[in-house]
Amino acid sequence: MKGNLIIISSPSGGGKGTLIREVLEKVPHVGYSISHTTRSPRSGEESGKHYHFVSRAEFDAYRDQGGFLEYAEVHGNYYGTTLKQTERITESGSDVILEIDVQGAATVMEKMPEAVSIFIMPPSFEVLRARLTARATERMDDLELRLKNSLGEVMHFSNFGYVVVNDEITAASNKIATIILAERQRPHRQGELIKGILGSFERAKL
Ligand code: 5GP
Repeated sequence: MKGNLIIISSPSGGGKGTLIREVLEKVPHVGYSISHTTRSPRSGEESGKHYHFVSRAEFDAYRDQGGFLEYAEVHGNYYGTTLKQTERITESGSDVILEIDVQGAATVMEKMPEAVSIFIMPPSFEVLRARLTARATERMDDLELRLKNSLGEVMHFSNFGYVVVNDEITAASNKIATIILAERQRPHRQGELIKGILGSFERAKL
């Protein structure tokens, strides 16, 4: 049985990086899709681990080959999720987390309505601003841009299947883990297993 696509979106500074790391530790059989981006690496970021950092020409070439499940321009840079990587993970039976923006989320929801979508909501604008400022990874103008875009992003919450307020990391990551585990129990995700069980009832000729 193929794994589920799990879309996770939030405004920049919503804390999804830390949350996702916790979820990956808590829930077995979940992979993470490493996106391609034209953004420059921040200090401590490694290509192939946090992102595949590529030039605009490389990004465009990959897009033109139809290599992306989705891509979007976010805060002035391009980001994309490769089809190859998500399929490799879901074909292996594991779920795959796509950490993508609200535009990319809308594309995936349209192409794959069975995808599970979770919006991570910061507890307030003030907390979002404090987290982004404390992270100190952005130049001042980038930080302003991310804060300015955050209102447009949080307004998309109702397009998602689930909303988790990230007020406390352990509680929020437990909620996400619960959603991922619960989604595996939906009847249509257990077709083969249920078929086998029903077969045993049929064979019993009651
Ligand atoms: P950052 O530059 O802070 O790492 O990411 C900026 C935004 O781009 C975040 O909202 C992040 O979720 C989003 N993002 C990261 N990878 C992708 C991707 O592959 N596709 C899309 N559409 N957005 C992405």
